[in-house]
Amino acid sequence: TERNREGYAPLYNPFEQFYSRYVYRRVRHIFNRPICSTPGAEVTLKERYTDDYNWSFGFTGTERRCINLGSYNYLGFAAPEGACADAAAAAVRRYGLAHGSPRAELGSSRLHRDLERTTADFLGVESAVVFGMGFATNALGLPGLLGAGALVLSDENNHASLILGLRLAHVTVRVFRHNDVRHLERLARAAIAEARWKKIVIVVEGVYSMEGSIVPLAAVVALKKQLGLQLYLDEAHSVGAMGPRGRGVTDHCGVDPRDVDVLMGTFTKSFGAAGGYIAGSAELVNCVRAQGHAHAYAHSMAPCVAAQVLAAMRAITSPEGVARVRRLRDNTHYFRQRLRDMGVLTFGHEDSPVVPMLVYTFSKMAATVERLTARGVATVGVGFPATPLNKARIRFCLSAAHTREQLDECLAALEDIVDEVGLRYSRR
Ligand code: PMP
Repeated sequence: TERNREGYAPLYNPFEQFYSRYVYRRVRHIFNRPICSTPGAEVTLKERYTDDYNWSFGFTGTERRCINLGSYNYLGFAAPEGACADAAAAAVRRYGLAHGSPRAELGSSRLHRDLERTTADFLGVESAVVFGMGFATNALGLPGLLGAGALVLSDENNHASLILGLRLAHVTVRVFRHNDVRHLERLARAAIAEARWKKIVIVVEGVYSMEGSIVPLAAVVALKKQLGLQLYLDEAHSVGAMGPRGRGVTDHCGVDPRDVDVLMGTFTKSFGAAGGYIAGSAELVNCVRAQGHAHAYAHSMAPCVAAQVLAAMRAITSPEGVARVRRLRDNTHYFRQRLRDMGVLTFGHEDSPVVPMLVYTFSKMAATVERLTARGVATVGVGFPATPLNKARIRFCLSAAHTREQLDECLAALEDIVDEVGLRYSRR
């Protein structure tokens, strides 16, 4: 490690320099790409081939209109006009952009109250509290709920925000294999036999965005009831998108939402907005308000965001909204089937609207994103550290807003490059 004259290490981790120069450098043009429009069924991107070392947000390059398979917009509520955009614009005119205060001070408006009531009713539980950022909902909510003496049984694929929350909570964490309920049960029974934990909490997600897999919720709930454990469920990718009524993975699996102790979710994916919620019993929500740092110390959710989410949530409960949920499912099934026919490697549950395509290496990931952009298709590549080093993938995000023609165009673009990049791993 480099040290200065006084013997202190640099402020930043030198690994970052290595990573930027030798790893990120070769793929950097597919990240941090500026977007110049709403992230709807189409999006305008800058194509960038700059040659700088740093992660700067260069605004050079040609503008290109693309069909958008990269942003989360499962139900198509991210749009510059319509009921949601009108509600958000009206909220800006009435309240301005932000309240200038945390919730616990002068940061709570009628919009927050209505959104919390509507969220609880939508999910079928007693109460809910909302926050300005989904990531912070986990990272600050978990330490508010859990503390020393708690044991957490955590799925190995849990999101970074959950992992950070568990670290900040000073709990003991034991990791079980992804979606493996038998492994979870073994760990749970061993922990109970130790007889030294104040509480034992299972932490899982509804839909795992890197895998497109769905938690076996009925089995997890049966186990937690049998053994007297508690359950924290992150529905970031499933609320709005899963289940016949779009109520999330509980709806999908036919589980009573009141059997899940903590329902957490975000407004980022299905509601075309930002922020997160924690929902469940009134006691739970009161505890999160009182003990989670976000309620008292972080700025409240922007009122225009609350207005957008409220309008979207009300829309989902209408027949038109249920039709959106069905359209998302149809688009997902169609796209997955066509990818399988093409012989590329996809995985995950048939109903998951996030569809990962395994390309293995960073170079194939960058080539795929780059060549698809050139053909008018915006996608996102994910690799290390979000995935194992040799398991880079492209993540296609389907939307109810996509037309069949747009999906066909994307598939034709992929068919064009699939042999050049070497993505066909299974025989047709
Ligand atoms: N939880 C999960 C499972 C996620 O995938 C994400 C982000 N994609 C978050 C939490 C964080 O939410 P946000 O992006 O809304 O801050």
